[in-house]
Amino acid sequence: MARKADPIVQQGARLGEGSLWHPQTERLFWVDIIGQTVFIFDPKSGENRGINVGTDVGTIVSRKSGGVMLGVKGGFASLDLETEAIEEIAMVEIDLPNNRFNDGKCDPAGRFWAGSMAYDFAKGAGSLYCMDRDLSVRKVLSNVSISNGLVWTADQATFYYIDSLAFQIAAFDYDVTTGEIANRRAVVELPEDVGFLDGMSIDANGNLWVAIYRAGQVRCWDPATGDLLDTVEAPGAKLITSCAFGGPNLNELYITSASNGLAEQDKEEQPLAGSLFRAELDVAGVPAFEFAG
Ligand code: CA
Repeated sequence: MARKADPIVQQGARLGEGSLWHPQTERLFWVDIIGQTVFIFDPKSGENRGINVGTDVGTIVSRKSGGVMLGVKGGFASLDLETEAIEEIAMVEIDLPNNRFNDGKCDPAGRFWAGSMAYDFAKGAGSLYCMDRDLSVRKVLSNVSISNGLVWTADQATFYYIDSLAFQIAAFDYDVTTGEIANRRAVVELPEDVGFLDGMSIDANGNLWVAIYRAGQVRCWDPATGDLLDTVEAPGAKLITSCAFGGPNLNELYITSASNGLAEQDKEEQPLAGSLFRAELDVAGVPAFEFAG
């Protein structure tokens, strides 16, 4: 029987996303992309602070020098969590008004990787970018449709990546010294009628936990065998978008969801659409990397 996650913040986010645990402050960072809001959730007090950033915000990562980095409409930005000042850093897609940035995370060397997509989901309209520690940005992949989950293995030798419209988790050889990826292959494939592979986290055993949009689930796969190992359900929400290990022991799986575009009937079936969920697991995740620039 599948595990069940509990709703812990009934936010009604339009497009909840980008969950990321910040161990120094023991808070969960997450975003509402088209709600243009960064959230900072404190599990101890239950407070869910919202910062309106005035632009569609696809992802949030911690920055070693202070504050956070964001993927926004048009490119990369920084956000000061005290003053709430946002600063554009590298607007690499400013000439693509039909695109916005989507998911992004940092690699073990502290580079910030984030990808883009078209608002109308046009195939191949997006790209995957890597911002290096000197704030320079290079395009790593073109012809991406919905750039989503990305994680690195503990040995830093493999990069896993999801383009939702490819219906597969791809693996690449990873060179942590140069940030180059090579030798793409599929390690997990999802039938299109199940849903869309979305955000992704990796646990201490190297297994992949993936939000399944439209399925109301997070699924865990062993990328070495392709075996499905576990399922976590989020009752009352189907549009599951991202997951992140958090809590003092990193064994609590935080799960974001979306409510955007639901018809009235869907809303009745999904009363918790847009909520933040949490499930306690018997496996721990690994701490997220910070942007070192
Ligand atoms: Ca996503």
